[in-house]
Order: sequence, then C-alpha cells, then structure tokens
Amino acid sequence: MKRVSLKNFQFNSEHGEQYNRDFISYRGAVKLNETQEEVHIAIVDGSDTQLRHDLESFHMPKKTVFFGITKAELATFIGETTDIEPVASKRAKENDRSIALDSITSGAPVVNIINAICIEAIRLEASDIHIEAQAESVQIRYRIDGVMRTIKKIDKSVFYTVSNRIKIMANLNPLEQRLPQDGRMSVTLENITVDLRVSIIPVADGESIVLRIFNTSAKLLSLDELGFYPKELNAIKAAVKNPFGLILLTGPTGSGKTTTLHALIANLPIPDLKIITIEDPVEQLIPGVNQVQINDEIDLSFDSMLRRVLRQDPNVIMVGEIRDTATAELALRSSLTGHLILSTLHTNDSVSVITRLENMGLEPFLIAAVLRCSVAQRLVRKVCQSCRKNVTINKKIKSLFTKYKVEGNSMYESSGCLDCEDTGYKGRTIISEVFMVDKAIEEMIAMQKPINEISKYALLHGMGSLAKNALQKVADGITTIQEVEREVIF
Ligand SMILES: [Zn+2]
Repeated sequence: MKRVSLKNFQFNSEHGEQYNRDFISYRGAVKLNETQEEVHIAIVDGSDTQLRHDLESFHMPKKTVFFGITKAELATFIGETTDIEPVASKRAKENDRSIALDSITSGAPVVNIINAICIEAIRLEASDIHIEAQAESVQIRYRIDGVMRTIKKIDKSVFYTVSNRIKIMANLNPLEQRLPQDGRMSVTLENITVDLRVSIIPVADGESIVLRIFNTSAKLLSLDELGFYPKELNAIKAAVKNPFGLILLTGPTGSGKTTTLHALIANLPIPDLKIITIEDPVEQLIPGVNQVQINDEIDLSFDSMLRRVLRQDPNVIMVGEIRDTATAELALRSSLTGHLILSTLHTNDSVSVITRLENMGLEPFLIAAVLRCSVAQRLVRKVCQSCRKNVTINKKIKSLFTKYKVEGNSMYESSGCLDCEDTGYKGRTIISEVFMVDKAIEEMIAMQKPINEISKYALLHGMGSLAKNALQKVADGITTIQEVEREVIF
C-alpha cells in the first residue's frame, strides 16, 4: 500500500462527499479523492480487511484504491478540520493537567487543537512548539532538528481560548495576560508521557507561547549512534575508562552535550559503579543511575548538591553544567580525589576549556592534573539518504577541502521527499573536536603555555578540528555544506 501525506490535504471533489467525522475517527479512513470511476481512500490500518471490504462495497461499482497514513497523521488531520468554537474552553476543568492525546474525538474542540499540535510535534520529533499570536492570525511553529519550521496558521479568534486552556493545564493564572508566566504540563500519547515546560510572554499582538518537549521515555542513544568517527569514539571511550579525572563537553546551548554525556554514562559498567548525575532538569532517565534534579528555588544549586553527592561515595558524577567558580573548584578537587567527573562548559572549541577554567580562578597545575579530555561539539542535520543529490564541488569548496586535508570531488545537496517531510534532511549527527590530554599537554598546561601553542601541538598529534570534521562529513555525504556552514567557521 502506497504511503501518502495528509499535510496540506483538503478534500475537494465534485463527485461525492467526505465521510462524516465519526466515521473518519472511529474507522481510521479519509476519502482523498473521488471521480466518476475511482475513489482514493487513505486508511490507518492496512490489515483491516473488514474496513476495506465495507468501503469497497459502499463505493461499488467504482474502483477503490487504498493508501497508507499513520494514526498520528489522522489525529492531526481531525484536529485541523475541527470546527472551532471559542466558547468551548469555559468547560475546561481545573487541575486537568494531563490530557490523553489519543482520545482525540472526545474533548472540546480547543482541546483537539492543542492535541493535534502536540501529536504532530511528537511525531515530527520537535524539541519545542511555538504558538505565536500575530496581527491577523496565530502562527504555529516547531523547532525540528534545531531549525524552526512553520507548521500552520490558525484563526486569531481562538488564540486566547488556546492560551487559556494551556494556562489551566500548566497550573497558571488564565486571567493574566500582561505578565510572563512559566509552568509545566504533561500529555499522554499511547502510554508515553511527555512533559512540557511552558513559557508564556506577552507580545504586541497577544502572547508568544513556547512548549519545550521533554520526552523522558525517548530512546537513550548509545555512543556509537551519535555520529562520532571511529577514531574519536575510541579516544572518548578510553578517556571514560579513567577511574578519576575530568571530562568536559563544550558547545553552545542545543548542541547535544547532555545527550553525549548520557551516552557516555550509559556506556559505563553501571552495575559495578555508583553513578550520580546532577541535572537541570533531568531530561532522560538512565536505568541504574541516580539522577538528581537541581532546584535553585530551595537552594539546591549545582555546587551545594555536588557537596552532598560527594558524601555518598560515588565513582562517577555528572554535573550538568559548570557555571561558576564554586562548582568548578569543587568539581576539579573531587576529580583529583578519586572521582570521575563529567560536565559541560560554554566554550567555542575544545582546547579553550583550559582558558575558561583559568579565568574562573582555577590553578593551572590543578587543571593539568585532572583534565583528561574535552570534546567540542555541534549538531547538524543529516541529508536525507532517499532524495539527496550528488553534485561536483566548486572551486571554493575544493580549496576548503585542500586547506583541511579532506579528500573528495563531490558532495550531496538536499532535495525533498515523503521520507523527510520535504525538508531534505532527516536526523542529526555530531560535528566534533576531541582534545585528549597526554603527558606533554599536561606539562604545557601546568607551565601556562599559550593556548594556540597547545592547540597547534594537539592538531599535529592527531586532533581533528571542528572544521575538518565538518568537511569530512560533507565529503562522506552525511550532511551538506549549507548545514555545516551554519555551525562552523572555516
Ligand atoms: Zn528526502
């Protein structure tokens, strides 16, 4: 059965009517098109022979052709085609913070709109949902693989109904429209619970609502799945085998540092070690690991929590982020005394962690003694393997390849197909720079040698820079030059 997409689909036929809503939702069938000879129908369950038989006999003597769609797509379609009545939200119950997304037909229309928006976001693996009031309409956008994508526009008249409903679900004040509000809510889809962090700020034309999606049940990625090249992967795996020391991940917000840290931890022999993570928030659960959420409101900051965690005699501690000198000092001292510490810092490249730590007031000899490895990373989208197009590289790219010693004469450009929702990209991969601290580098750090000198030594001794790694992924057809140019300076 051929797959079709219901995105942008609107029923339009001179030869027959669309099925009624109840039939569409209960039987999972949508009429796509009807001519004098043929009827095209999209169905969720291709193995439902009863449904196919019923439809075939109903449309006799016309020929019936079936196409496949997903359950989530159907739910989105129903949500989109719901008639909208702004008064409906008055029936919304207090404390009803959790909604079942798959019971889409039972709720009020406004719930259907929110459900449809959430279902589609989860299906497309969006990281956040943006509901933005504009002058004439309401714009719904998702961030998918790091890039904003406009999904649809809905009628401005329902904006406050949707906004009120979200506020009630997130335990916020629905009457407040002038002040920013933050909260949390959760939604359930086919037994998967997804937590949403809600942020609402007033803007000129109403409000901007952002729902950040935390799918704690999302599959934990293994180190091998992240996209590191084997050489780097082996270096990182060797670094985490150290019984003590400091391993740092660096990169801007949204560069996947936490995902890599979680994968590093999942790669450890968990039953043999006491592992504690201190996170803000706990984004994903790792079986067998003690994960603690910090809470600034009750003074459980990274450093005060780390102090307490150390009393539990852990082997490995993950500190979500080193933000201040107190945390940095404590993390470095504890990695000197028999703990393996994994954490993140905000720096542009891997070698700069040395400068950053020095600027936080830490002694160079201490940094030299504990730092084992630092990994700078960026996330880029992978070009869709089903529709990518091979092209010959131009002179400018060729000279970049030569400069960074990357071999290749062709690369791929993105196109668009059903597999990648017409974006040309599917999934993400890591661009990385793995800086391993050996004896010589240890000495250079302790002697306070300039960073560019340390960097030069590391590059000469096998470190691949972010730029080289990025171009290699272009040459290997994993991503495109446009993707890496956004994240890496050449
Ligand atoms: Zn494609």
